[in-house]
Amino acid sequence: MTRWNDAVNQAGELPDFLYIDGQRVRDALLDVIETHDPASGVLLGSVPAGSRQSIDDAVAAARAALHGPWGDINPRERGRLMWRAGEAIRDQIDRLALVETLDSGKPMRDARAGVERTADYFCYYAGIVDKLEGTTVPLGRDKICFTEKVPIGVTGHIIPWNVPINMVARGLGPALACGNTAVIKPAEDTPLSALMVVEILEQAGIPPGVVNIVTGHGAVAGQALAEHPDVRHVTFTGSVATGKSVMIAAAQHIASVTLELGGKSPHVIMADADLDRAVPDILKAVFSNSGQICSAGSRLLVERGIQDELVTALVAKSEALRLGHGLDDPDMGPLISARQLNAVTGFAERAMQRGIEFASGGKPVIVEGCEQGHFFAPSIALNVPADDELARDEVFGPVLSVIPVDSLEQAIEIGNDSDYGLAAGIHTRDISKAMRYARAIEAGQVYINGYHAAGDTVPFGGMKHSGVGREKGLAALDAYYEVKSITVSL
Ligand code: NAD
Ligand code: MN
Repeated sequence: MTRWNDAVNQAGELPDFLYIDGQRVRDALLDVIETHDPASGVLLGSVPAGSRQSIDDAVAAARAALHGPWGDINPRERGRLMWRAGEAIRDQIDRLALVETLDSGKPMRDARAGVERTADYFCYYAGIVDKLEGTTVPLGRDKICFTEKVPIGVTGHIIPWNVPINMVARGLGPALACGNTAVIKPAEDTPLSALMVVEILEQAGIPPGVVNIVTGHGAVAGQALAEHPDVRHVTFTGSVATGKSVMIAAAQHIASVTLELGGKSPHVIMADADLDRAVPDILKAVFSNSGQICSAGSRLLVERGIQDELVTALVAKSEALRLGHGLDDPDMGPLISARQLNAVTGFAERAMQRGIEFASGGKPVIVEGCEQGHFFAPSIALNVPADDELARDEVFGPVLSVIPVDSLEQAIEIGNDSDYGLAAGIHTRDISKAMRYARAIEAGQVYINGYHAAGDTVPFGGMKHSGVGREKGLAALDAYYEVKSITVSL
């Protein structure tokens, strides 16, 4: 236990404020939300539970900044500030990654990669700021018509707990590049890294009010942000149910939304696949971040002839996975909370009651030295009927549902028989099969012979209930500007 307490001390003073208009706000009248290390159970600190009034104040600051200094900065300078912010984040990788590991439980290497990606988002979008050109429209000799890309205004960002700091930057990058300002509502379980970004924005010279952070409960601060009439765009990542309520709240004031919701992404393994390559890829696709990734490859559609061989290899490898505290850089860390552990355990128990067999895992695990941690074993469920809850619902934990198929056509049919459409993968040596699948599968991102290979500059987002709009890459910018046309009659 002392070891984990030492790590918390090493992280130094942790943020305990709201950040509004460049001020660190500690309001004694507000309740607080405690945040814990999900591996050790150690209390890390607490942040204010922002109120409706906190959101009003933050939105007012963001509105003032839009019409004030931020709006006056020329594009090239805005890009330079964003680049500086990116590099300042990279400079603080040690402390940011430590706090991200402590607050979210993820293995240190993933936390470090997450901080690098965060820096990359700022730098990537920094480069586009002075290239957001408009067009001219030919209307004949007696008119001149041109378009400009203008900011939408104040943007609201509601952040989940699974990759906290990345998601802040993933939305802020394109929002700031297009000249907007922002109010961020981090997740209750992981508020710390978002607040640490504050210091870095200040160092980089981003003016007060451009980025405001209000920690708090979803039903209060999150709801108030989505409902606020001066918020012109809401970016949300999280569950389908909450996404729907955010969309309804935004609709009341005709704000646009980017919704990045869940998935039950199919990963197809054809009989001709290179299994040496497929096996580690399958495990990484579903067990990374303990399965708490919206695009996890959680439905494994295997051609029947290779099912036994593949499952044997998967079980051997998954039973060898080491669970532990993120600071020890294990293969898998804990789930985020007792609530999430209960939810995942419930999925497994109900599946067993329906007679589904787990070839490995299927239950929580006690990890020595982390007895208070929310660990769940890497789990492989066999012969899951395509219409079973375990094949249809997002578990958001380390549970792989294996579904045998007899042909590519059947894999496509079952793959598409889902409310979701976020990501999809296939392993095959046959390029025609791979491309037929890629074209036919209903998913925003498709991976051939390497799950999650796209990275952070490739448009990402879902079809069907997986969401609305795209994040990452240049496509993400589309949500953050309005096209204005100006026509001159000569
Ligand atoms: P959630 O969707 O309720 O929470 C996500 C964010 O929304 C948090 O910041 C939360 O405070 C906020 N929020 C909650 N209620 C709100 C409301 N009424 N208005 C505005 N904002 C609100 O997710 P959860 O309850 O933390 O997790 C439940 C499930 O959601 C998970 O098991 C998983 O299936 C899914 N999830 C998906 C992702 C993803 O990356 N797509 C991330 C987290 C959770
Ligand atoms: Mn936490």
